[in-house]
Amino acid sequence: MRIVENFIAGAAAAGGNRQSDIFDPNSGQVQARVALGGAAELQKAVDAAKAAQPAWAATNPQRRARVMFRFKELVEQNMEELAHLLSSEHGKVIADAKGDIQRGLEVIEFCCGIPHVLKGEYTQGAGPGIDVYSMRQPLGIGAGITPFNFPGMIPLWMAGVAIAVGNAFILKPSERDPSVPVRLAELFKEAGLPDGILNVVQGDKEMVDAILDHPDIAAVSFVGSSDIAHYVYQRGVAAGKRVQAMGGAKNHGIVMPDADLDQVVNDLSGAAFGSAGERCMALPVVVPVGEDTANRLREKLIPAIAALRVGVSTDAEAHYGPVVTAQHKARIENYIQMGVDEGAELVVDGRGFTLQGHENGFFVGPTLFDHVKTGMRTYQEEIFGPVLQIVRAKDFEEAVSLPSKHQYGNGVAIFTRNGHAAREFAARVNVGMVGINVPIPVPVAYHTFGGWKRSAFGDTNQHGMEGVKFWTKIKTVTARWPDGSADGGNAFVIPTMG
Ligand code: NAD
Repeated sequence: MRIVENFIAGAAAAGGNRQSDIFDPNSGQVQARVALGGAAELQKAVDAAKAAQPAWAATNPQRRARVMFRFKELVEQNMEELAHLLSSEHGKVIADAKGDIQRGLEVIEFCCGIPHVLKGEYTQGAGPGIDVYSMRQPLGIGAGITPFNFPGMIPLWMAGVAIAVGNAFILKPSERDPSVPVRLAELFKEAGLPDGILNVVQGDKEMVDAILDHPDIAAVSFVGSSDIAHYVYQRGVAAGKRVQAMGGAKNHGIVMPDADLDQVVNDLSGAAFGSAGERCMALPVVVPVGEDTANRLREKLIPAIAALRVGVSTDAEAHYGPVVTAQHKARIENYIQMGVDEGAELVVDGRGFTLQGHENGFFVGPTLFDHVKTGMRTYQEEIFGPVLQIVRAKDFEEAVSLPSKHQYGNGVAIFTRNGHAAREFAARVNVGMVGINVPIPVPVAYHTFGGWKRSAFGDTNQHGMEGVKFWTKIKTVTARWPDGSADGGNAFVIPTMG
């Protein structure tokens, strides 16, 4: 059986003694195992990173950018292989797997311009003979801990920016689909990245704790579920690190009475059920404003859901594939039962879905609930599956308040033809990323990604200038080149520029 191990100092390296199964979600079979490590394996990665980082930081930014260029080209050349590998462990369909990698590559494209964004500020003549300038310097060694649902994009959000600005980086991918991150590290090496600058260590909580406690790791970026994000944030900060920790989500889509409902249903089908709902920017809650809007929307949603094709992840016609593990499938189905028990109306039940020839695959059919109420646990918690919940709002004010009051605040969307309503909504809603007639408002790479409330701990977002800020520290130099005529003044008084 194939064993996925570490990638340290530019080469495959032995992982820990414990192992965890990697499934083929289409068949339900174990297809490989990953070796789970801890402090001993991490130390090897830190040693490699420490040895390599000073020379990489001293490499001029243009040369670092060239590595990013070559890496982007190599990933594009290997797209088919990477997408199939990703899909085989995650279960998302091939087109979606390509999108996962492509969104990561867009961050690499941003990093190709890193010399431009690393330019500091300069004030000439801040005082007599005095100039002030600032520079952004790398932190040293950074680490990233990533979730299963975007094994291409999220490692590249972090590794791309961290490396481009001159850090060494240690990636701890999800143990459920760890192969693509290793392949990406191999391609970085092929692109000319010096050994030791990008290391991949495999593991679970034990490795995460080793990272959080390691004194030589300056910063940790985490993406995953909220309780673990909060834990990582607290433990990392207590150890004196800079930490950003993105958590779960429960994104709402507000449907105003004037919205184009055919467009909304088309957008919702993809945003609620695409990737089997396993996206932190999925849209699992739809909020029609007014009973009439709700009834019209429901009428259109039911046939659209019936037309969805659930298939194996290599089926080019399938809208979505299996979920990641049997455990996750059981969790989603438990939530569906909970919704019934809580009194929501189960309109379409996706439980018990089987695909002929793939009876042991981890498939969940599309599910629709109506008359979901805010007091229900199934509304308050993240399900992370192909389950869409209708929460009816009486008016615009209620529609703004629902996502605003929810514990999560990752993304939100409003569907309307009314510019004023959209503008008001965007300004007032208490959520980090807003879509206006855009169901999945994941910002482009040169903007920045991050939610509010329990969707993100720490205050710096991923990629864009926020990412550059997270992975660098700023140094400000005040320089005086006297012409020899000044009397020097009183050295015991705080200097002013007056
Ligand atoms: P997860 O929290 O189970 O795992 C994330 C990472 O934490 C993995 O690398 C895992 O090995 C590690 N981990 C697991 N248990 C741990 C523990 N007890 N202590 C320390 N580390 C531990 O998340 P997941 O199931 O892989 O991913 C899905 C979650 O990620 C969803 O909640 C989703 O909303 C969220 N997510 C958020 C964003 C965002 O940007 N806000 C993006 C993608 C996914």
